[in-house]
Amino acid sequence: MPQQSRRSFILAAGAALLAPRAFAAAPSTVLPRVASVPGGVARVRLGAAEQAPVAWVGEHRVLVQREGGEWFAFVGIPLSEKAGAKLRLQVHRAGSAAETLELRVGARKYATQHLKVPPSTVDLSKEDLARYERERARLAQVIATFTDSAAVPLAMRQPAPGSRSSSFGLRRYFNGQSRNPHTGMDIAAPTGTPVVAATAGRVLDTGDYFFSGGTVILDHGQGLLSLYAHLSEIDAQAEQLVAAGEPIGKVGATGRVTGPHLHFSVYLNTVAVDPALFLPPEPAAR
Ligand SMILES: [Zn+2]
Repeated sequence: MPQQSRRSFILAAGAALLAPRAFAAAPSTVLPRVASVPGGVARVRLGAAEQAPVAWVGEHRVLVQREGGEWFAFVGIPLSEKAGAKLRLQVHRAGSAAETLELRVGARKYATQHLKVPPSTVDLSKEDLARYERERARLAQVIATFTDSAAVPLAMRQPAPGSRSSSFGLRRYFNGQSRNPHTGMDIAAPTGTPVVAATAGRVLDTGDYFFSGGTVILDHGQGLLSLYAHLSEIDAQAEQLVAAGEPIGKVGATGRVTGPHLHFSVYLNTVAVDPALFLPPEPAAR
C-alpha cells in the first residue's frame, strides 16, 4: 500500500469572482470560474513537475492542466454533495508516494419548485420506464468517458443565441415526489436555430433519447464533456472532430419538453457542473 500523506486544503474558491474587474478582461484564462460548491468546479494546485500528475476522485480520473509552469486539477463537485463535506482527491506523481488532498465543499443553495400535476403526466408507462432505464445506463457509460489529452479547451462559448435560464441545480417536486435536479442550462431559442460546439472536441455520441430527445455529446478531453439536447436536427456524426463554434445541430423540442429550447450540460469527472462557469458573462439585457 502506498504511503499517504494528508493535508487539508483551503481553496481560493471564488477568488476569480472577487477579483477586480480588470482581472476578468481575459476570459480564456479565467474560465471556468472556480467555486468549490455543489455543482461547481474546484481548482486544486498540484505544484510543479516534469510529468503531469494523475488525480482521481473515487474511481474517476480528474482533469489536470498545466498553467504557468504548475499543474492544477479541475474537479467537478456533484450537486448531491452537502456543504461542509470533504472530497478526497488522490494524487499520483511520478516517482513519489500517492497523496490524498482533502477538498472542502462550500455552500451553494439551489432553488426548489413544487408542482401539482395530474399523475398521468408524470408517471411513465412500463414501456417508457424500461426505455428510460436502458438509456440511463447507456448515458452513464458515455459520460464516464475519459480521453487523455494534453491541452483541454476549458473556455466555452454559448452554443446558441438566446437568454439563459439560471435553473441549473433546480430541484422539482411533482406531487410531493422529488425528481433529479436540473443538470444543465436551458437557452431559449426557436426551433431551427443553429447549435454550435461550445468548445473544440470530438463527437462522442448522438441519439434520440426519451427525455433529452435529439442529443449530441462532445468529448473535449480528460473527462470534460458537453451535451446538447432536444435538437430538431443533428448535424454531427460519432467520432467527427469539431472546432469551437462549428454547427452540430438545430434547436428543437424533441424528448420530454414543453417548448423549443436548447438544454446544455457540461460534465467533469462524470459530474454535471454549472455550464455558466465555462461561459463568458451573459451580455446585459437592454
Ligand atoms: Zn434543461
